[in-house]
Amino acid sequence: MSALSKVYSVAIVGVDGTVVEIEGCIGGGLPAVHLVGLPDTVLQESRDRVRAAITNVGQKFPDTRVTLALSPATLPKVGSVYDLPLAVAILRAAERVPDDRLVGTVLLGELALDGRLRPVRGVLPAVLAARHAGFARVVVPLGNLDEAGLVDGIEVLGAVHLAEVVDWLTGDGVLAICGPHEESGDIATVPDLADVAGQSEAKYALEVAAAGAHHLMLTGPPGIGKTMLASRLPGLLPPLGRRESLEVTAIHSIAGRLPMDRPLIRLAPFVAPHPTSSVSALVGGGSGVARPGAVSMAHRGVLLLDECPEMSPKSLEALRTPLEEGQIRLARRDGVVTYPSRFQLVLAATPCPCAPARDSDCSCSPTVRRRYLGRLSGPLLDRVDIRVRMEPPGSAALHGAEDGLAAESEGSAVVRSRVEAARAAARERWAADGWLTNAEVPGAALRRRYRLSREALRPLELFLRDGRITARGADRTLRVSWSLADLRGLTVPTESEVCEALSFRDRGWA
Ligand SMILES: [Zn+2]
Repeated sequence: MSALSKVYSVAIVGVDGTVVEIEGCIGGGLPAVHLVGLPDTVLQESRDRVRAAITNVGQKFPDTRVTLALSPATLPKVGSVYDLPLAVAILRAAERVPDDRLVGTVLLGELALDGRLRPVRGVLPAVLAARHAGFARVVVPLGNLDEAGLVDGIEVLGAVHLAEVVDWLTGDGVLAICGPHEESGDIATVPDLADVAGQSEAKYALEVAAAGAHHLMLTGPPGIGKTMLASRLPGLLPPLGRRESLEVTAIHSIAGRLPMDRPLIRLAPFVAPHPTSSVSALVGGGSGVARPGAVSMAHRGVLLLDECPEMSPKSLEALRTPLEEGQIRLARRDGVVTYPSRFQLVLAATPCPCAPARDSDCSCSPTVRRRYLGRLSGPLLDRVDIRVRMEPPGSAALHGAEDGLAAESEGSAVVRSRVEAARAAARERWAADGWLTNAEVPGAALRRRYRLSREALRPLELFLRDGRITARGADRTLRVSWSLADLRGLTVPTESEVCEALSFRDRGWA
């Protein structure tokens, strides 16, 4: 006797899911399980889990030959997500469960040996793919139910055990359904700018960077608060829109880093890899499954590279492509995976290797000092529009109002509302060209089509004539001056915005 079954699941490649058909067949012959269709080693292991789980829910495992074919065969199928569909394919082929509820259903989930269902990665993109392919419902491990429930227009059911799924398929049981989503914003969890004392210049630079989506570099002695300040940047950015939010959540889901109770990421992520992180931790990869790296985890958010001169030349070089293209391609044994990586970069560094509290105490030779940050120039610094030097408070604070109470009491919410207004103005201005933020505008457009008045350009021309700024530095200055104008509600930058933009540069940095 020979029976055939058809069960559906989803394969994830990059951030996209594709429905996979699993055909189960029980035929004559010696007891054995054959998996067909490019299964990787993980999938071979799932054979053992599936066998144990089926036995442990009180079902007899077929004592003849079982063939399980996954198609399309060309698609790489990795991970343990197929445990549940494989188990059900076997039970259906053995005619232990009817077909009714399997029609139009996608199954996802890893099985423990005792039959419990374990949460898996990438459920959000998998459910999106199932809906896109016209499936009516999806059954996921209970731990993934909230994440799966983020997708509208498809029925989402959660199970804790294979036995529950079997009961549901036979019509005797019910599965958990997803409760209403919590739509509350969790912006309160982001550290607030009000906690940072003093540093009004650096805070303003952070606001300008937020307004124009400019990459930013903070230099200063250790302990001055570079990381503290950078970690406040997500709180100054507008919350993610619905589409961006799902996009970011999908990446974090694939990386297995999503909180189960509140899966939807609504705020710009903040990612700060260690300077000695491996290249694959930084840009993604690793053996077997190509995991998203820090550059993709920071997609639509902020990537802080603290102590960036300590990074290896290989790591610095690896950042070039994601910065230029907003995505990263990772080669794997069975093809290429692409992950998005459009982030706002914050570089933080001490000005020199000896890193004294006061710059005047530096014991480095001028050559060493130049080389230290010079290492960053090619791949990274060329893309940084704003550079700020953070000085120890002390002296400035004593001089009075500059770092006074008024500036310190301003919280992230107030700054964010100005940033949102500035971004809206920029979006409207560049709409015809398809740019969203000032940082995206090419230099040529700033110099020609959106050329400022002769008066406004005068300070910049003086700098150019004296060789105090390069052409590229001039483009950066123009970009920043547009952001300053947007923050001030001006339609175009004036001489004063251009002068101020020029001040957001260290001497010697062209
Ligand atoms: Zn030094």
